[in-house]
Amino acid sequence: MKSCKTAYRIFDLAVSLIYPRRCPICDRIVVPYGQLIHSSCQKKVQYVDGPTCLKCGKPISNDYEEYCTDCRKIRHFFDKGYSAFKYRSISGSVYRLKYMGRQEYADYYAREIEKRLGSTLKSLHADAIIPVPMYRLKENQRGYNQAVVLSKAIGRTLDIPVRTDVITRCRNTVPMKELDVMERRKNLKKAFIMNGNDVELNCVIILDDIYTTGSTIDEMARMFRRAGVQKVYALTLAIGQTT
Ligand SMILES: [Zn+2]
Ligand SMILES: [Zn+2]
Repeated sequence: MKSCKTAYRIFDLAVSLIYPRRCPICDRIVVPYGQLIHSSCQKKVQYVDGPTCLKCGKPISNDYEEYCTDCRKIRHFFDKGYSAFKYRSISGSVYRLKYMGRQEYADYYAREIEKRLGSTLKSLHADAIIPVPMYRLKENQRGYNQAVVLSKAIGRTLDIPVRTDVITRCRNTVPMKELDVMERRKNLKKAFIMNGNDVELNCVIILDDIYTTGSTIDEMARMFRRAGVQKVYALTLAIGQTT
């Protein structure tokens, strides 16, 4: 693994000479090599801290509640969710990572996830990180799936294998921004297919960029459980806050 990380650093250095790395917050070039973010921009980033929902990991405004308002109403299929950043503080960055090819941001996010959640995530002893798959046509159009890019960076940092061969998105779902929870669930029916009957995994971490209602992760978690996976966790880069 060490030689793999060294090889990656050499590769990364070579790439950075041709395409200088951009700051995940302001998108301007970051120098010198090895810096992943401007120190002034680092101060603008807000992490998930304080009381969080015991189920989905969303920050909650009072610490006498154990669960957020959503998780008190809905049963989730995953065991527990973790998230590193408050969505509002990195929303522009997530947009560029997702739609504008800024895959390099993933290295910064992986480093921060290791710092904030590394020991917790390692203690789960997950067999694999599973990025939320994108419908193939959509991925071909975009050129990459940001969940895969993030998963690879995080998997490399935490030394957890990334598996993209276990589950496939077999249907293009309509954008879910305007849908409520029940409509989202309906929209996701039969959206995924397991590749083979025997997944041979006991514990997985599903990875996505943003956590909103958790519907996509839930649908995947439901399928993993049906396939015999014992423990299903969720890891997302950013999460909103309940009111
Ligand atoms: Zn910056
Ligand atoms: Zn919750």
